[in-house]
Amino acid sequence: MSSIRDEVSAWVEANWDESMTLREWWRRLAAAGYSQPSWPIGLGGRGVDSGMAREINDALGSHPVVAAPTGMGPHMGGPTLIEHGTEQQIQYLGAVADGTQAWCQLFSEPGAGSDLAGLETTAVRDGDDFVVRGQKVWNSSADIADRGMLLARTDPTASKHAGLSFLLIDMRQPGIEARPLRTMNGNSQFCEVFIDDARVRSSDIVGGLGTGWRVASTMLVHERKMAASGSSRSLAFAAAGPLGGQLDRPVGEIVAESRRRAKNRPAAMINSAKSLVALAQEHGANTDPVLRNDLADYFVRSEVYRLTNLRARAGASSGRTPGPEVSIGKLALSGLARTSRDLGTRIAGAGGMIVGPDSVSQGRVQHAALSAAGVSIGGGTDEIQHNVIGERALGLPRDVTS
Ligand SMILES: Cc1cc2nc3c(=O)[nH]c(=O)nc-3n(C[C@H](O)[C@H](O)[C@H](O)COP(=O)(O)OP(=O)(O)OC[C@H]3O[C@@H](n4cnc5c(N)ncnc54)[C@H](O)[C@@H]3O)c2cc1C
Repeated sequence: MSSIRDEVSAWVEANWDESMTLREWWRRLAAAGYSQPSWPIGLGGRGVDSGMAREINDALGSHPVVAAPTGMGPHMGGPTLIEHGTEQQIQYLGAVADGTQAWCQLFSEPGAGSDLAGLETTAVRDGDDFVVRGQKVWNSSADIADRGMLLARTDPTASKHAGLSFLLIDMRQPGIEARPLRTMNGNSQFCEVFIDDARVRSSDIVGGLGTGWRVASTMLVHERKMAASGSSRSLAFAAAGPLGGQLDRPVGEIVAESRRRAKNRPAAMINSAKSLVALAQEHGANTDPVLRNDLADYFVRSEVYRLTNLRARAGASSGRTPGPEVSIGKLALSGLARTSRDLGTRIAGAGGMIVGPDSVSQGRVQHAALSAAGVSIGGGTDEIQHNVIGERALGLPRDVTS
């Protein structure tokens, strides 16, 4: 009997062609149900459980191909709509699965991050539409998004949690302006978004009017899961949607570019224990007993984090609702990011103060150091994860501000 790995390999063999466009590759992945395997058949999935979905993703990741669409639409929008959306809203996921649309999350505001329910953006009924006005901030990839997952106040007279609704908003309409923000690591990953009389059809309210907090809470669990789960094995990723600028490029070109970048690119948010050991060897610092001890400690914590993630995945595969391990995983990742920052800059010494590809470690250690703070903020800060663990796992009294 052939395994799913064999089945995926045979499919890749028959379908991968370096000269085809990304649009066509993603269309094929979705049509075969390999794009988002746990989603319904006909919407890029096969309706399989999350364990089997991971096996399929791992099998695809073992081939030198472009990964299926990833990010907020697939990892956060999909599971949230499948749980709370109407039949019509769930159909929107087809364009997420085949990558022809990119989605973003419009939750945080200048005065409402951790205290999300205090947000002030309003959506006011006007006939069969809602008219939206307000400002959002820190919204990842909002400048290239086609659809926004928006939390707004639809009833200013209700209590702060009860007055919210979750809306799907067309990002490409007049009245929405997304301005990229540059962060200290040099990336322009997120935006501030100004919304001035933009419109949403009432049929695009998810979960019903006034139930936004419940829908948003589902999405936040999936966001933490995504933030805690670290990187996938895939070689090449590409931005979805027409504004991502990748859809009409040949997939072979995207893979070749990713290979080149994998050699030269600055590290992501975190240096692996292995890369820090290599750096210590390169700098002759690997004989320092204190540093050796700290590297070993970092390796052990990285392993504990990896195993906690595996436990969370195994739980999800057996149908268990995600519990405190999601917050524990996210907290562990924040701690690792800080240690990786400190160890990297310690090993790099004075040279670590200079950034850019022509500096120590081709700028990897410096990039990770400047990215570490973001890891403990995005997806809910460390303090908020402590609150979640305290309240939901340990049964401690609720945070006074909630
Ligand atoms: C990389 C990255 C990507 C992001 N992407 C998105 C996105 O796509 N969409 C989106 O909507 N948002 C996004 N965000 C925003 C993120 O969700 C918020 O930054 C986060 O929720 C914190 O909110 P804040 O920045 O307003 O900080 P605040 O809430 O003002 O917090 C300031 C400090 O006070 C602490 N604090 C606040 N309340 C409490 C409390 N009750 N108990 C103890 N301590 C508390 C916090 O832990 C923090 O240290 C992103 C952020 C980052 C860093």
